[in-house]
Amino acid sequence: MEDKLMIIDPHVHMTSRTTDDYEVMAAAGVVAVIEPSFWLGQPRTQVGSFQDYYSSLVGWEPFRASQFGIKHYCTIGLNSKEANNEALAEQVIELLPLYLHKDNVVAIGEIGYDDQTPAEDKFFRMQLDMAKELDMTVQVHTPHRDKKAGTIKSMEVCLEHGLDPANVIIDHNNEETVKEVLDRGFIAAFTIYPKTKMGNERMVELVRKFGSTNIIVDSSADWGVSDPLAVPKTASLMLKRGIPKEDVVKTCYQNALDAFGKNGKMKEEHWMKPNSIDQSQLFNDNSVLRGQKPRIDDDQIT
Ligand SMILES: [Zn+2]
Repeated sequence: MEDKLMIIDPHVHMTSRTTDDYEVMAAAGVVAVIEPSFWLGQPRTQVGSFQDYYSSLVGWEPFRASQFGIKHYCTIGLNSKEANNEALAEQVIELLPLYLHKDNVVAIGEIGYDDQTPAEDKFFRMQLDMAKELDMTVQVHTPHRDKKAGTIKSMEVCLEHGLDPANVIIDHNNEETVKEVLDRGFIAAFTIYPKTKMGNERMVELVRKFGSTNIIVDSSADWGVSDPLAVPKTASLMLKRGIPKEDVVKTCYQNALDAFGKNGKMKEEHWMKPNSIDQSQLFNDNSVLRGQKPRIDDDQIT
């Protein structure tokens, strides 16, 4: 039997997903996830809602993931869409340093442009300066409208602020943007959405054409139509279509670990020598169970 590949999904909004998703992801080989802080659909009106959201990404959600055997990391930042509420955005920026040093925070993200407004530009630049000062990796959300120009602008602004392109992950690429991103030395991430242009069939051909260096696959699964199994499904399609296993491992595991592991908080040993799943554990007196018998794995070799 073929060994199951270990998978990292470096962009998935688990807050919006169910425990069933965690179960099927773990069964499909997902060992670790990175949850970027983002917009929640309903625009926030108070700085306190941001604070509680960030607290959840460094508290409750890693606990919830651990109950299903998945290691959870996050990226913290002010998203581009909500940067347009300037008065609120100013307060959110003040909050960020409180969270950037937390144990599971591996980058500043996801930040960048949505409509490419002056307010988005201002707060993107402020956060790039923070990344530079703290020597942190950056995860950039590129706009869905006017994608190519927005992607190029994002990279130019990163360079203007003195960031090393090797520390910047440019996300939501497609065939039109990938060459520019790789040529400039940035890391190119691809979001695989079901039933869209950037599906996993196209991802296979992209890896065939551009290889596996500096290329990362993610799901960006959230509260919209998306697939938390996009990375394992793409990995298995790549293997089926004859992409060498080494390239599949790089694009669906190793490159994400290398890119987000730079500040030393995300380490392979976290899932190679995991704590056993113990669903009798509580977080602030809360359990993920609703009267079920806790799963307690006792398979550790000590
Ligand atoms: Zn996202």
